[in-house]
Amino acid sequence: MKFHQNVEKNRQAILDTERYVWNHPETGFKEWETQKYLAKVFEDAGYALTYAGDIPGFYTDIDTGRPGPKILIMGEMDALGAPNHVECTNGNAHACGHNVQCAALVGTALALKEPGALDGLSGSIRLMAVPAEELIEISYREELRKQGIIRYMGGKVEFLYRGYMDGCDISYMIHATINNNYDFVISQGCNGCMAKEIVFEGKASHAGGSPHLGINSLYAANMGLNALNAIRETFVDDEHVRVHPIMTDGGQTVNIIPSAAALSTFVRGKTIDSIKNTNRKLNRAMAGAAVSLGAKVSVIDRPGYSPLINAPMLVELTEATAGEYFGADRVYNSGKWGCGSTDMGDLSCVMPSIHPHMAGCSGTSHGDDYLVTDPVKACLGAATVQVALAEKLLKDEAKLAKEVIEKTELRYPSKEAFFADIDQLMNDKALVSYEEDTITVTL
Ligand SMILES: [Zn+2]
Repeated sequence: MKFHQNVEKNRQAILDTERYVWNHPETGFKEWETQKYLAKVFEDAGYALTYAGDIPGFYTDIDTGRPGPKILIMGEMDALGAPNHVECTNGNAHACGHNVQCAALVGTALALKEPGALDGLSGSIRLMAVPAEELIEISYREELRKQGIIRYMGGKVEFLYRGYMDGCDISYMIHATINNNYDFVISQGCNGCMAKEIVFEGKASHAGGSPHLGINSLYAANMGLNALNAIRETFVDDEHVRVHPIMTDGGQTVNIIPSAAALSTFVRGKTIDSIKNTNRKLNRAMAGAAVSLGAKVSVIDRPGYSPLINAPMLVELTEATAGEYFGADRVYNSGKWGCGSTDMGDLSCVMPSIHPHMAGCSGTSHGDDYLVTDPVKACLGAATVQVALAEKLLKDEAKLAKEVIEKTELRYPSKEAFFADIDQLMNDKALVSYEEDTITVTL
């Protein structure tokens, strides 16, 4: 239990990090205070950091001095906009417990600096603080895209694109979860998603005096929602498709026929293909709705996150590692598929990855009552499993890491093939065009 002791020795620094980050919640691509705090802890411990610079986030490498694979261990820094959270600060809160991940990353970094921590290991470990896991504030991120700062909406997928994960062979992180019957939970994986804005364009006119001169974009959007609901029965159960739009614009002035209306949604599914197929149906539904009123409609589509598939051999190893620490009866391999999404999914497309969950929180995930109630369990527990798993993978000349790499079937032959595929989900286009008596629909 060398790793447990090495983490335990740094208990106060870990718990201090958990509280600091909890009290300074920042949403994605704005985590500057969080980065500053974490970077100081890392640098005080003797780590040299490479910063993303124009967005928050950094990484550092720990070399054992012997050749072998590189393990990537991450902690997410971002919070949620949650103005009604019981302990929100500036309208934000860590209602998904990413502050626990920051503390666990610190615990991992400090434990690996303890004397003898790398004895008997081969290869290297990259520790990385990543921004922007939550897929929120899309318009802010779109602005960063327009400025050429980011290309992708999530921190990890952006870091992958930038090359910060080049050379990494296996990746993992441990996410906090609500206290339940178990301390440690592993699932099969979860859905991927894309982000989509749908903009209807009609024609304004006096709502009382001359509605016949207008084209009501709000009604077109309403019909689009009804059409979407009518095609839900064509969604295949096993594909776990989720489409959950909100209306972000429905007119501004009550006596004007709305000339603009907008919907915002994610399209989620078990595979990129199921997301693409559903998106096509959704475009068809929206185009049909627009055509029925003579309105125009356009879409702004962006890749969100790819489906997460936890590498089966990593699932086995992580389950065993967590079992050694918590007791096998406190570890639950659910075998279930989740319908949320994370950009760990993108990493799982190109390298063996795992994204398990560590208990220690209470309330509702993303809810106003989410609290870290057992920080010792959540933070020290996650740090211990992270370090112990790295040790398991890299000992004996990294025998198990090499086996994981060899046995894991990846969905793409290369990072380039992966980005080429998800880039098909990046579109700005009009779905309908009118020319005299001809209406053309583009899906
Ligand atoms: Zn989360």
